[in-house]
Amino acid sequence: MREKEKAVVVFSGGQDSTTCLLWALKQFDEVETVTFNYNQRHHKEIEVAQSVAEKLGVKNTVLDMSLLNQLAPNALTRDDINIEQKEGELPTTFVDGRNHLFFSFAAIYGKQISARHIITGVCETDFSGYPDCRDVFVKSLNVTLNLSMDYNFVFHTPLMWLDKAETWELADKLDGLEFVRRETLTCYNGIIADGCGECPACELRRNGLENYKARKEG
Ligand SMILES: [Zn+2]
Repeated sequence: MREKEKAVVVFSGGQDSTTCLLWALKQFDEVETVTFNYNQRHHKEIEVAQSVAEKLGVKNTVLDMSLLNQLAPNALTRDDINIEQKEGELPTTFVDGRNHLFFSFAAIYGKQISARHIITGVCETDFSGYPDCRDVFVKSLNVTLNLSMDYNFVFHTPLMWLDKAETWELADKLDGLEFVRRETLTCYNGIIADGCGECPACELRRNGLENYKARKEG
């Protein structure tokens, strides 16, 4: 009998990480999720992550990363910083080192529970230029973490080369399109499901869904 393969999903309760969780549940024998609390503007994000994990019958662990806000003030945590992107610059939602730290902590947690598979929903296709969403960064960190703990982690990025329409398609293939649509939170204004409809995150999510539906019908 082969050994049980355990996995940890880096989980925010949004569309992307929920799709990754559905993907992981089909691939691995045991799946857990970790969610990072870094004093997000919308504390709701943590509640949504916990509720989605519970509905899918998966353990969720919330890790305190409030030091991130202390290190790098940003528009995701501070009301006095607006969400915007100036020409040729990273958007104000970018937080230096966020994925680097999150993935490292997820891996440390994973090793404690004998999980070697780490899954994240980062993506190069629709990304706003975040350097730590790049495939090369994830691969590089994977090697570094293996060396740092003398352990063979395998990072999985099922959404890396998908656009938002294809991410909806993947959720649909995993029989989770309606679940993802109804239960997840992507909106920068903290509104679940279809969201406020106005912020950049809602726009990206809605355009993706409309494009996917158009492709499916066409
Ligand atoms: Zn919104």
